[in-house]
Amino acid sequence: MTQHLSQPEFPAATVLGYPRIGPHRELKKAVESFWAGRTDAHALEATASDLRARTRSHLAALGLGADDASVPLDFSYYDQVLDAALAIGAVPERFTDLVGDDGTVDLAGYFTIARGEGDRAPLEMTKWFDSNYHYLVPEIGPATPIRFVGRRRVQEFTEALNAGVRTRPVLVGPVTFLLLSKAADGAPAGFSPLDRLDDVVAAYAELLAALAAAGAPWVQLDEPALTSDTWDVPRDEVKAAVARAYGTLAAPSSSRPALFVATPYARLGCAIRELAASGVEAIGVDLVRGSAPDEDVAGIENVTLVGGVVDGHNIWRTDLDAAAEKLAALEGVGAARVTTSTSTSLFHVPHTLDDEPNLDPTLKSWLAFADEKVGEVLALAAGPDGAPEAFAASREVRSTRPTTAGVRRPEVRERLAALTEADFHRAAYDARVAAQDAVLDLPPLPTTTIGSFPQTAEIRRARAAHRRGELTDAQYAEEMRAEIARVVTLQEELGLDVLVHGEPERNDMVQYFAELLDGFAVTENGWVQSYGSRCTRPSILWGDVSRPAPMTVEWSAYTASLTSAPVKGMLTGPVTILAWSFVRDDQPLGDTANQVALALRDEIADLQAAGIGIIQVDEPALRELLPLRRADQQAYLDWSVRSFRLATSGAVEATQVHTHLCYSEFGEVIEAIDGLDADVTSIEAARSRMEILPDIERSGFARGIGPGVYDIHSPRVPSQAEVTELLSAALGSVGARRLWVNPDCGLKTRGYAETVDSLRNIVAATREVRAGL
Ligand code: GLN
Ligand code: ZN
Repeated sequence: MTQHLSQPEFPAATVLGYPRIGPHRELKKAVESFWAGRTDAHALEATASDLRARTRSHLAALGLGADDASVPLDFSYYDQVLDAALAIGAVPERFTDLVGDDGTVDLAGYFTIARGEGDRAPLEMTKWFDSNYHYLVPEIGPATPIRFVGRRRVQEFTEALNAGVRTRPVLVGPVTFLLLSKAADGAPAGFSPLDRLDDVVAAYAELLAALAAAGAPWVQLDEPALTSDTWDVPRDEVKAAVARAYGTLAAPSSSRPALFVATPYARLGCAIRELAASGVEAIGVDLVRGSAPDEDVAGIENVTLVGGVVDGHNIWRTDLDAAAEKLAALEGVGAARVTTSTSTSLFHVPHTLDDEPNLDPTLKSWLAFADEKVGEVLALAAGPDGAPEAFAASREVRSTRPTTAGVRRPEVRERLAALTEADFHRAAYDARVAAQDAVLDLPPLPTTTIGSFPQTAEIRRARAAHRRGELTDAQYAEEMRAEIARVVTLQEELGLDVLVHGEPERNDMVQYFAELLDGFAVTENGWVQSYGSRCTRPSILWGDVSRPAPMTVEWSAYTASLTSAPVKGMLTGPVTILAWSFVRDDQPLGDTANQVALALRDEIADLQAAGIGIIQVDEPALRELLPLRRADQQAYLDWSVRSFRLATSGAVEATQVHTHLCYSEFGEVIEAIDGLDADVTSIEAARSRMEILPDIERSGFARGIGPGVYDIHSPRVPSQAEVTELLSAALGSVGARRLWVNPDCGLKTRGYAETVDSLRNIVAATREVRAGL
């Protein structure tokens, strides 16, 4: 007898996951207090247990059933990928001392692996599919221990069951786990983490059996990796891995739970056949980013298809009629049943609109955060006859939103329509270099920073006081000017060549601009997890974008008035502003990007007019939005690069345009970076010791480049000798004419002590290298 016959049906309505951080960031605060040594592990466990209790009773109260596995159990102290690694004991060798006799790692050890300690580097962190969440990269080698050891999920399940809620445990699926892993240091050439599939599957089989024994009718295995085709592993190998893994995990057995494999973020192209044939009881498909399978899938008649029709990745109210149609179309695929869910976990969106009393009521009526999305899933499961009010409210939004003032501004639309190709091009690079050399008078290997200086406690205090109304606008501006003056004096003392104002006035590099542009709203409590305990509050881009007044000119002009050195103005680029906001869903992203670009173009013109001759436009998120399917990537790169060019190509020849990108893995985007046509591009390079430069040079990139010589992710101060060595290495690939000297990224998260020492060493090393030219 196969297991699913004796199990309850898959719930008619569910969500793939729910925010884990707590409605008021309770988990963040508890975890940080544990890190600071203010509370012990016991207290942290108690807070987490309380948070889980509140989440599951809240979800049950919202209408997800308490006894039918519709409440997901997806808690994590830091990251779900790290949790999966520790559940199967896959601890990198350098952390072996943290592993107890039973193969587990305690909470303190867990955070050590996540955050590093002394010379021991943490697991690398990288972005989770095309979202702004970052996960920890497991390191898997031929000898990495892999066996089921970590019972946290089982204990959490039992804890919930004892409290009367039969949850659905959520785990990162085995194939995704291995595709997200990297080969451990020292693994032989040709080794791929996927080579350990059988071991991982054996460990998962035991974990699943333990969950079934504890009483779990359903377990959710998240396999988002199956929606992407950009892995190094060939597609056929991924499919074979799916067949092999799920053939084993879903084999008939009375000791396993029913399996729900969720595939969020894009279309499940590659492996639906293998999944359907494997015996898994339910498959979740993303019908927001993806679509229903359009060919016959053998075996699908035995499977429940879970239609992800409520967007877990954005905050707009669902068009319930359209969603109901998608579900009806999914019925046509011939599955045993079709049920309703979100497209992804809801951990990409804030908890609830109830915590936003000051949001404009009209805008608010268009939105759905996590709790409201739970309501939408339930309404869809009930259908238009069962939930007439929800369907009527959804129709009302559709009829009012397009015509509400601000959504479409004729002047913005006309300006975009009137653009010509010339608006996307600057003068030839050689002419720009000549014009810039004539005015800037910079030494070879010019030194600069990426923009922000440490955000001190005083700066944060002043901003909080200003927000509470305890500091007037004038007083606040005075404090910021004083900070800028301090930062300018410091840079002059250090002997840096191109100065910055330090960005003290920026709460965040996107929100700062969102607050000053028309078309954006900001939330008060709309926190979402970015990584670990870090949360961001994305702005909401709801209408046509325009710039009512200059945004940065006063600060930059003030800075320039304090010094005779060149000052670099600092803006955030259109793609990054989009990537780190919730964006409107009623027009192509490229159109929205161009609207933001025009606002930035005006800002650049004003900066130029105020005498600022160097302007940096940061695009750290350029790579983040890269589509998960190769076929979609070129179109994305085309519009994103064009929006940057639209923003910057109004600059005159003599204005030096810089851009900054936060990473060093260029690969598929190297041509795009060249296409930005910036005069100078700064990138991360210190951690990889300039390894990237030969590739960049081979690509034909021929403009200024500033490979970072200081890893700002760590408090470590690079020595003068170390920087000298990095610069000599860089000079081997890039001529002195084009090489800039700068840290990897902004300094806002660093303390002053290490910042000053590091910059001093950088300047000294540069002088040493210059002397030898
Ligand atoms: N100019 C920004 C800073 O220095 C850039 C930050 C980033 O790239 N994320 O902080
Ligand atoms: Zn950066």
